[in-house]
Amino acid sequence: MGMDSDIKLIDENGLRLDGRKFDELREIKIEAGVLQRADGSAYLTWGENKVMAAVYGPRELHPRHAQNPSKAVVQARYNMAAFSVSDRKRPGPDRRSVEISKLISEALEEIVFVEQFPRAAVDVFIEVLEASAGTRCAALTAASVALADAGIPMSDMIASCAAGKIDGHVVLDLGQKEDNFGEADVPLAIVPRTDKVTLLQMDGDLTTEEFDKAMELAVGACKEIYEIQRDALKRRYSTSLEGYEDFEEDE
Ligand code: UDP
Repeated sequence: MGMDSDIKLIDENGLRLDGRKFDELREIKIEAGVLQRADGSAYLTWGENKVMAAVYGPRELHPRHAQNPSKAVVQARYNMAAFSVSDRKRPGPDRRSVEISKLISEALEEIVFVEQFPRAAVDVFIEVLEASAGTRCAALTAASVALADAGIPMSDMIASCAAGKIDGHVVLDLGQKEDNFGEADVPLAIVPRTDKVTLLQMDGDLTTEEFDKAMELAVGACKEIYEIQRDALKRRYSTSLEGYEDFEEDE
């Protein structure tokens, strides 16, 4: 962010490096229930990002001293695979992944009915298999679907998307080069039905006017993403119903 460079991020036709318009998302696809052993799961591709989320619980939290006697603890672990970026990423937690894990945990605690499960843990494992900017938003979006797929009592899902500024223009959903060479990146997460903000960060500088514009774009995108999330759950649900009908016919 803010790196000095001659790289031009917007062409003379007002299009971005990958041909997108200012307010255009990268393509997002979500499939729910892809892992057999997890209680809930989701696989998400978002442009060149590939993210797997697996949910376990609610289950007894160990070590016991970490338990909260009045509510469940949501423990998200965001991890970037060593092969997920062009320069090999050193395996294991680093400052950045610890930070992202913490803010995803805090966001998800807002939607899970944690009071229903004292002393329990809800574990959310997020593996970034390929990274191309916007992985925290992708991670939170996938994790929400995995939580719903696990049937964990929750008020709603969280949808997340970033907006930012490149070559002096406010744009939606920065790609890798835009993230590297742009002027600002503002990841946002909301509960789309209530517009409650559950995550907001800013890297770089914006005027208040630009910030408002970025929020308008990101909120609009979150609502679009929410429909993709719901669609993933609907597809998952209708597939299992079909399977059930087949099973009954065989009886
Ligand atoms: N990245 C990388 N190596 C790292 C961390 C990040 O190559 O150790 C890349 C990765 O593609 C990531 C992007 O830089 O998606 C932007 O990272 P940032 O910290 O802004 O988080 P994100 O946008 O992924 O939420």
